Amino acid sequence: MQEVDVLITNAEYVITVDSERRIFRDGAIAVSDSKIKDIGKTAELTNKYVGKKTIDATRKVIVPGFIDGHIHSAFQMSRGLADEVGAQKFLFERMYPYEGYLDEEDNYWSSMLCCLELLRHGVTTFIDPGNYHPAATAQAVSQVGMRSIIGKSTMDIAKSGFGSLPPTFNETMEEGLERSEEVIKKFHGSEGGRIRASLCFRGVNNCTDQLIRRMKEMADHYEISMQAHACFAKETRDASVAAHNAPEVERLHNLGVLDSNMLLIHMGWATPKEILLLGDNDVKITAAPSSSLHNAYGNIGMGSVPELLEMGLAVGIGSDHSSSGIVDICQEMLLLAGGYKEARIDPKIMPPETVLEMATINGARCALWEDEIGSLEVGKEADMVMFNTETPEWQPLYNPVSNLVYSAHGGTVDTVLIGGKTVVQAGEVLTLDDNDIYKHVRQIQPKILEKTGLEEIMQTTWPIY
Ligand SMILES: [Zn+2]
Repeated sequence: MQEVDVLITNAEYVITVDSERRIFRDGAIAVSDSKIKDIGKTAELTNKYVGKKTIDATRKVIVPGFIDGHIHSAFQMSRGLADEVGAQKFLFERMYPYEGYLDEEDNYWSSMLCCLELLRHGVTTFIDPGNYHPAATAQAVSQVGMRSIIGKSTMDIAKSGFGSLPPTFNETMEEGLERSEEVIKKFHGSEGGRIRASLCFRGVNNCTDQLIRRMKEMADHYEISMQAHACFAKETRDASVAAHNAPEVERLHNLGVLDSNMLLIHMGWATPKEILLLGDNDVKITAAPSSSLHNAYGNIGMGSVPELLEMGLAVGIGSDHSSSGIVDICQEMLLLAGGYKEARIDPKIMPPETVLEMATINGARCALWEDEIGSLEVGKEADMVMFNTETPEWQPLYNPVSNLVYSAHGGTVDTVLIGGKTVVQAGEVLTLDDNDIYKHVRQIQPKILEKTGLEEIMQTTWPIY
């Protein structure tokens, strides 16, 4: 018998998302040195291993840790501040003024609240599209024990045809590049490799050609990814055509920067020509269904996720931000699967297996991290989520993939392991203090309303006495 750090046994199902997409009934996983040492049936593994620690996963369904492919940790304090608005108003009248107000400490508590919600809903890794206090996000990630890709948000056109940025965002191209490089040097590979850095030219329309080219050089130099929002609404496409005589992806192609280390978010409004360019250049894409559904950006109605997947591209899924409500990859999977079925009037499109791939192995490909995470396979990091099936949402249990996508929600997560360490147990996050986070959120909330002038906007249309 070999001794391992953790031996997990008796799982109702282990959904591996490995290369053969194997699912084990009465499954078991052996973990050593933060990695998966073995995986299979309980009867087989209990004959080979004894665990220093054992976890009885009776009545649990185990899946790889979810990868939220796009979530603004700095936006977690904005829930309810941007309802019923179009893309332009959402950004320039609500979210940018909100974010422009945040200081380092506000950003830290926003990131902590974000990590709390992500972890409770089974996310072990998230890709942040960058903010103005990335050190605060890194501090939160480091403390809670998650994996994350962080970055410094950079935009060097303060006023574009699409809108004006708040003064606190203003910086020259050189300043933006210098600060972005500082983040890479300080955080890339930190926390035993749990934190990685990315280059974030946050909104394509607010970035000069020169900035985007220089970022690509830097991304290649440091062998990291670069990311931006693109084609997320009709307005973003029209603004790009007006300023550059080309829609967003075509413009990036003309700049010579489309490549396999580029992650583009949303992409619902990509033209047929642009979709071919994405395929030719192995560009990574993250779809964000709830943010589009919340404010009607058209990313599902106009979108091409099934076609992009058909082309073999890595398309992940992201919850985007709490200002569109849920931060729950389980529910995002449902929205994407159901949204495309409805929009295409096709019950066969986007089956649950496909959206689960998006939330796991495809998310890892988008993060350029698929050698270590995204599936439960020998040699990969032991990042996994155990759902409690003794809940109404999981019963009866004929098909675990179907239940996971169509019925479950993040509230049915019981246990989360990251690198073999238990960070969520019985639905509670062990690495942070929920009540302390809520206390700080309550203190920051009125300041945000007062300083941003959003006080009136957040009121419901019904009278509050
Ligand atoms: Zn976003």
